[in-house]
Amino acid sequence: MEPKDRSSQESTVKIKYYTFEEFVEVVRSFHGFEAVGVLIGGFMVDEAYRHLPQGRLFDALCETPKCLPDAVQLLTPCTLGNGWLSVVNVGRYALTLYDKETGVGVRVFIDPAKLEQWPEIRAWFFKLKTKKEQDLARLLYEAKTAGASICGTQLVRVPHRLRDKKHRGQFAICPQCKESYPFDDGLVCLACSGEEMYEQVQPDITGEQVLTEISTSYQVL
Ligand code: ZN
Repeated sequence: MEPKDRSSQESTVKIKYYTFEEFVEVVRSFHGFEAVGVLIGGFMVDEAYRHLPQGRLFDALCETPKCLPDAVQLLTPCTLGNGWLSVVNVGRYALTLYDKETGVGVRVFIDPAKLEQWPEIRAWFFKLKTKKEQDLARLLYEAKTAGASICGTQLVRVPHRLRDKKHRGQFAICPQCKESYPFDDGLVCLACSGEEMYEQVQPDITGEQVLTEISTSYQVL
């Protein structure tokens, strides 16, 4: 085969409407670097859509906050902000696109049994190598070549308790921090009732000082 055919072959690997190479660039600009987890997540989203009727809207559920939510947000209308994407962190590398009325949808997960022939993906998936030890070029090659073949799919129904949108009730002013919070949370906001969000720093650090002070040591009260 003539060498010129190579480029056309490279561009035949698609993730939704992107070629693999285009998606690498999209991930790089959105995620900060070409995270293989988002790239594989892209194949997983693409795979889910292949099993779903076209032209319909689906909600998304990710089983880990790592990487997969970014793949969903890049390739579907679902975002954490608009509420169509939710994360239930059970730590499994899996995502589901489902009909919001019935809860029925397609779950796509990485199947460890299918990783045997992809040593670099396997090493990444099971964290057998440090980031420094990873062969990124090899990892990207394996991700591109394997595509969704390392995944399993299941027809599932997402239960009501995971898909019912929580309608927030009224807001009140917290008597302690004086900020607004959902009144259903109690007489004070959750931050003031025990969920300690931040540690206080010395009050003599002004806003202008923070940028320089933050890189050096500062005393936590
Ligand atoms: Zn408060």
